[in-house]
Amino acid sequence: MLFQLGDDAKLLAGGQSLIPLMKLRFANPTHLVDLNFISGTSFIREDKGTLRFGSLTRHAEIENSAIVAKVPILHDCAAGIADVQVRNRGTIGGSLAEADPSGDWAVVLSTLATEVRCLGKHGERAVDLQDFIKDAYTTDLAHNELVSEIVIKMPAKGSGGAYLAFKRAAPVYPTASAAVQLTLDGNVCVEAAIALGCVGLTAIKAGDAEAALRGQSISEKTLSAAAEAARAAADPQSDMRGSADYKRTLVGALVRRAIDIAVRRARGGRVEVSHIYA
Ligand SMILES: Cc1cc2nc3c(=O)[nH]c(=O)nc-3n(C[C@H](O)[C@H](O)[C@H](O)COP(=O)(O)OP(=O)(O)OC[C@H]3O[C@@H](n4cnc5c(N)ncnc54)[C@H](O)[C@@H]3O)c2cc1C
Repeated sequence: MLFQLGDDAKLLAGGQSLIPLMKLRFANPTHLVDLNFISGTSFIREDKGTLRFGSLTRHAEIENSAIVAKVPILHDCAAGIADVQVRNRGTIGGSLAEADPSGDWAVVLSTLATEVRCLGKHGERAVDLQDFIKDAYTTDLAHNELVSEIVIKMPAKGSGGAYLAFKRAAPVYPTASAAVQLTLDGNVCVEAAIALGCVGLTAIKAGDAEAALRGQSISEKTLSAAAEAARAAADPQSDMRGSADYKRTLVGALVRRAIDIAVRRARGGRVEVSHIYA
């Protein structure tokens, strides 16, 4: 149908980004192609060391999945998105395709080895998430392609992660957020991935913060170094959610807390987290 209807047609998934934009007349597609009628597009599967999500899988299904509970950072993300109504309709595929700078999924998934499967007339191609999101609201998708599946490599043994966001209220996007996924060998951090949300036009991979942890023993000193490097990596804009300075300080504090939780989880601890509300 996308091919038949041409450039003025838009895909509709959960409608939680597209319908508000249409109500505001920021989007005005001539045709909507409703993906909700296509069966088999919503699933969560563990398969040969990967976790696979159908693009139409709702945030709420991910939140409540026993398979997903094995990778706590994914549960943190799904459970913290907006309110129950949005989580019941919104989809992981729609969220990545929208590439909203404030969206949660791209931040969390960039701390894991994530591949986005894109389906078009000529078949399917796999795109690394880092290459899929090009800019704010801009992805690698061609107009007549859709996201069919999201594939995540299961983290290694001894791994733990956490995602924390600071929000003014549940049904609004975060002011800032931090995702941390690391792997420990004893007290030494052998692998670390840190991504920052809402402090740039896309999720920011905080390479210097990761380097501050990698190969180091976990201590107050390494946590502080990583948090400081994350603060420096942030590139926020001042807006109604806070000044750029405020957001930079906030994201450093979130990274520090998220590392602490990720370490406890990597050591086998069951740590429940929820976002922090103003
Ligand atoms: C009040 C409110 C609060 C929210 N708060 C948050 C929040 O805190 N954090 C957060 O992350 N999100 C938040 N959201 C957004 C929500 O997560 C959406 O679910 C998500 O951004 C888009 O998913 P969707 O399935 O609703 O997509 P839709 O709105 O249906 O589509 C969004 C865009 O993606 C395209 N698209 C959809 N599916 C595909 C596909 N499979 N392949 C290619 N293109 C596709 C559509 O054509 C459209 O351009 C909020 C939404 C609302 C209404």
